[in-house]
This record gives sequence, structure tokens and C-alpha cells, in this order.
Amino acid sequence: MPASKQIAIYPGSFDPITNGHLDLIRRAANILDHVVVATLRHDTKHPLFTTEERMEMISQATSDLPNVSVDSFDGLLVDYAQERGARLILRGIRAVSDYEYELQMALMNRQLSKELETLFIPASEQYSYLSSRIVKEVSRLGGDVSALVPAPVSARLSAKHSSL
Ligand code: ADP
Repeated sequence: MPASKQIAIYPGSFDPITNGHLDLIRRAANILDHVVVATLRHDTKHPLFTTEERMEMISQATSDLPNVSVDSFDGLLVDYAQERGARLILRGIRAVSDYEYELQMALMNRQLSKELETLFIPASEQYSYLSSRIVKEVSRLGGDVSALVPAPVSARLSAKHSSL
């Protein structure tokens, strides 16, 4: 039995964090020693929230989980994982449609680093329809997203959309 700790990186845009992401983080934190939620700094998806805002929202939402920390990274995920001493990448799978892209990424990361393993965790059924993109869309149109994201995120979404 190796004595090394199981540290996993959970990378993503988290623009913003949703209850689906949180569910995955909680479940992963239950079985792993440490989970680092890592937001992408230079995201080509043109995020609505800045990296700092996204990190703040994740920190607030995970403050009750002692073995979860929040960070941001740039460049190759495999390099960042090595820097953090992590040998696991965590990704959520909502539907079969997620799988093709996720598998491609996992195989590419394996190609880049043999040390790194990708761990897929299936989304809980009640969150399998939930994405940051749909939350932003509904909120932008004035819909209530309070059941889909933590309360501070919901407040920030309203503030963001009223200032745009
Ligand atoms: P990315 O831009 O990397 O896809 P996201 O923030 O959209 O970043 O997602 C990060 C990870 O979280 C991905 O593995 C995604 O499949 C997973 N994820 C997103 N929404 C959910 C959800 N509702 N339940 C479980 N996992 C999710």
C-alpha cells in the first residue's frame, strides 16, 4: 500500500460554480485525501466572471470542507498537477455526450504524462442537466437560478447581469 496521499486536481472553468460541481467535489473529498479545485486562468471561453471572482465563489462554497482547496493555473494541466504533487485528475461525466471529449482529453493527458490518471465521476442524476452555461443563460434572461447554485453565486449573477 503506497503511503503517498491521494491528491486530485479538479480542473475547470467554474464560470460560475454550480450545485453540480459542488456535489462532485463533496463526493470526491469523501474518498480522497485532498481535492484542489483549479480554475483555468486564461480561458478561451471568455468567462463572465474573472478568475478571482470564480475562485472566491468556490472558496465560499467549499469552506466547510477541510480537505478541499482552491487555486488557479495556466498552461498544461499535466505540468500543474506535477507541481502540486497530484497524480489524479478529476472530471465529471453528465451524459454520454461529455464522454467523447473527456476521453480525448484524458488520453492526451496520459500521453503527456504517464504518471497521471484521470478519474471520471458520474454526475448525480438531479444535476445531470446542470451546466454553468445554462445557469448563465437562465440568469441573463431573468430566471431564478437559486436552486441551481449556492446563494452567493446567485446574488453575484444578478449583480453581474444588472451591471452589464
Ligand atoms: P470545463 O470548461 O473544463 O468543461 P466546467 O466548469 O464546465 O469546465 O466543468 C468542469 C468539470 O465539471 C467537467 O468535468 C464537467 O464535466 C464537470 N461538471 C460540470 N457540471 C457538472 C454537473 N452538473 N455535475 C457533475 N459534474 C459536472
